[in-house]
Formats: sequence, C-alpha cells, structure tokens
Amino acid sequence: MTHPSEMQTRVIVVGGGAAGMMAALTAAQNGAYVTMLERTGRLGRKLRITGKGRCNVTNDCDTNEFLSNVMTNPRFLYTALNRFSTADTKDFFEAHGVSLKTERGKRVFPVSDHATDIVAALADACRDAGVSIVYERAKALLIEDGALRGVVTTAGEHRADAVIVCTGGKSYPLTGSDGDGYRLAEQAGHTVTALSPSLVPITTDGDLCPSLQGLSLKNVRLTIRSTANGKAAFEDFGEMMFTHFGLTGPMVLSASAHLPDIAPGKYEAVIDLKPALDEKTLDARILSDFDKYKNKDFANALGDLLPQKMIPEIIRLSGIDPHVKVNAVTREQRRSLVALLKGLRVKLRGFRPIEEAIVTRGGVNVREVNPKTMESKCLPGLYFAGEVLDVDAYTGGFNLQIAFSTAVVAGENAAWGGGD
Ligand SMILES: Cc1cc2nc3c(=O)[nH]c(=O)nc-3n(C[C@H](O)[C@H](O)[C@H](O)COP(=O)(O)OP(=O)(O)OC[C@H]3O[C@@H](n4cnc5c(N)ncnc54)[C@H](O)[C@@H]3O)c2cc1C
Repeated sequence: MTHPSEMQTRVIVVGGGAAGMMAALTAAQNGAYVTMLERTGRLGRKLRITGKGRCNVTNDCDTNEFLSNVMTNPRFLYTALNRFSTADTKDFFEAHGVSLKTERGKRVFPVSDHATDIVAALADACRDAGVSIVYERAKALLIEDGALRGVVTTAGEHRADAVIVCTGGKSYPLTGSDGDGYRLAEQAGHTVTALSPSLVPITTDGDLCPSLQGLSLKNVRLTIRSTANGKAAFEDFGEMMFTHFGLTGPMVLSASAHLPDIAPGKYEAVIDLKPALDEKTLDARILSDFDKYKNKDFANALGDLLPQKMIPEIIRLSGIDPHVKVNAVTREQRRSLVALLKGLRVKLRGFRPIEEAIVTRGGVNVREVNPKTMESKCLPGLYFAGEVLDVDAYTGGFNLQIAFSTAVVAGENAAWGGGD
C-alpha cells in the first residue's frame, strides 16, 4: 500500500458501488490519496445485476429530457448533470474499452450485454489511478471537536480530510446497501426524508394474479387508473408479468413510480391484451376463430387468441359457459368478451417491500447538500453521491447516471477541498 504525500488531500469513499467507484476514481485523478471502503468482499455487487445483468448504464438524452425523467428533486441535479453528462458517461466507458449500443427508449447498454464489463472498467480504472480498496464496513464518522477527521470501521480508524458517502439506498440489501449511509448522515446532523420503495412490484387483490402466476405478457397496453374518478395515472405499452402476489415486469415497475400515494383499492390496472386491434377488428378476429373451430366448445376455441394459461381465467370472467358450442355464443356475449380482452381489470393493493425495489425513494435531504459540490452543509468535508441522496428517477439508465454525475462532482470537490 502506498502512503499519502504531505501535499495530498486524503479522501475516504464509503461504498464501492457505481457512485463510490466513480467518486474514488475522480478524486484520485484530481490528485487525492483515496481509500475506498467496501463492506461486502466485492465491488459493484448491485451494478452487476442492473438491467437484468446487461446494465442500462445511461440514457442517450439531453439534460432537459433527463430531468423530466427524475421524479424527486430534479433541479438539485442540474449542475451535476451539466458537469458530467450522459455523453460524458458514454465517452468514459468507450475510452475504457467498453463499446456501447443504444436501444429502444435511448437506453444505453454495453455491446457485450455484460454488466460485469461496466464493473471491470470502473474497478480497473480505480486501481490504475492508485485508489486503495479496503474491504471494511464504515460504522461511524470520526468527528473530533465538531470537525470531520475520517471514518471508524469494523476494523479500526481511517483518518482523512474528506469523506464521500456513496452507500446507496436500502433496496436489494444482499448487494450491500442496507441503509448505513443514512445513519452516517444523521450522525453529521442531516435529516433523512421518508424512505419508500420505487420501481417496485405491485401487490393486487383477488385471485386472478395468483392463478396466472409465471405468465409473462408482451406487447400489451397497461393503464393504471384511479378507481375514484377513472383518471389514468400511468399508461404504457410493453411487457409485464403475473406473480403469486400480483404484478411485476418492466411496465409495472415503471408504473409504481407514478403511484406514490398507492393504497388498497385506490388504483386499478386495466390490461389491453390486444392493443393492436380495435373492438371491431377484434370481434371479427374472434368470429373467424369461432368459424375455424365451429364444432368445438367455447373453452376450446380461444387457443389462437390467448396464452393457454389465461384461457380458463378469461372464460371464468366472461361468464360464458365453457361447454357451449362456439356457434351458440351470442353477439352480446362476444361483445363482453371483446370488452374483457381490451380491458382486463385488476385492483391494486400496494407495493412489495423496499428490499425488492429497484430504487429507494427518499434519502439525505438535498436542501442540506450543496448541489454545486455535493458537500454537506452540516459538516464541512463530508460529501454525498448516488442513491443515498433524496433523488430518484424512472427506469431507463437515469439512476446510474445520477450516481455517476453526483460522484464526479463530489470526487473533484473532495479532492480540491470543497467550496463553491
Ligand atoms: C435489480 C436492479 C436493477 C437495476 N438496473 C438498473 C439499470 O439497468 N440502470 C440504472 O440506471 N439503474 C438500475 N438500478 C438502480 C441502480 O443500480 C442504483 O441506483 C445504483 O446502483 C446506485 O448506485 P450507488 O453507488 O449509489 O449505490 P450501490 O450501487 O448500491 O452501491 C453502494 C455500495 O456501498 C456499499 N456500502 C454500503 N454501506 C457501506 C458501509 N457502511 N461501509 C462500506 N461500504 C458500504 C455497498 O456494499 C455497495 O457496494 C437497478 C437496481 C436494481 C436493484
């Protein structure tokens, strides 16, 4: 292990995730002597599972579009995003040997589809820049006579001139982020806003979802609307899945971010199973299927239209006798079948626990953090970056970009000694 020269600012970065690695690298590149503490035995555990192991590393959009995808405290991020933009993230990874591609919704992924390439690029860059990586858990800040002096870990003390807290949120605690950073912030006098899950699966009432558990639907339209006034709170087209507790999948996770006030029965999901067909065309399609299966029972005539697992449920909800011959199904019955297929309704109950969320909503109060430097307004020398802050965004690569942008600003300012 090398030692700091007398001229060097000593910076401790708490957390070796997306923000931690970027902050440590930036501080080291700006001349600091950097120690990065990571409580699990491995860097970037959460990063490895992002984007289903493919890592949606950023979103190829401009700052204004980016900020419109940030749900909580977008304005706080303005300076950081201008300092280290989505284009900078792309340049960074390309320059570190990770070729990138842009998919639907401007989502950027490594060409290899391997999140591990993103982790390796960051970890290698940290090592090359001389960051010293220590696998210890930060227990507390070391504060003497009201001044920040370093960090106390499970193994002892680490003295420093500046500390950057990059401990992440509270979701997926097995990846190492279980809320330690909030306690460190509170020790420094910060307030932590209410923590809740966002981008999280949704629980439902009734037995439709348990009966359909495991069934994944592609190319359907999902609308979430208020049961009180029918107003749509969310609408999208894409993929979703039924589970034993309710609904999940990309569209459902995105929907959850739009329902901060969810309560049992307050919202319902309306699923259009055939969004490409209007009522008239769908009715014609059903008629042609009925003609094809004219000697069969109704229960045996829906196989071309619906996934096998869904047929018994649709029959049950349609109220049509499964044993009636298809040519005996009345126009009125067909009309209600069409309505059902265009609007399968499920009452929503609430969210799954924060441990199952993609991101944590809430965190270190951004009014107590300087947005130009990421330095604490409560304790000089203390900085924050990433999900520990009270900022969160929709899916699409925005949350990792927030981690990188805030980390670059924190890393530079911690190395330079803060100030505006
Ligand atoms: C399943 C899943 C998929 C996701 N996919 C995407 C995606 O594709 N695109 C996207 O933009 N976002 C995605 N996200 C969100 C994104 O991963 C997070 O927003 C991002 O990782 C936050 O970065 P961070 O560095 O702040 O926290 P983390 O990545 O959680 O890192 C925090 C680190 O701090 C360490 N730590 C915590 N406490 C201590 C302590 N006391 N001492 C030492 N170390 C400590 C932890 O072990 C951890 O390594 C996904 C999240 C999940 C759960």
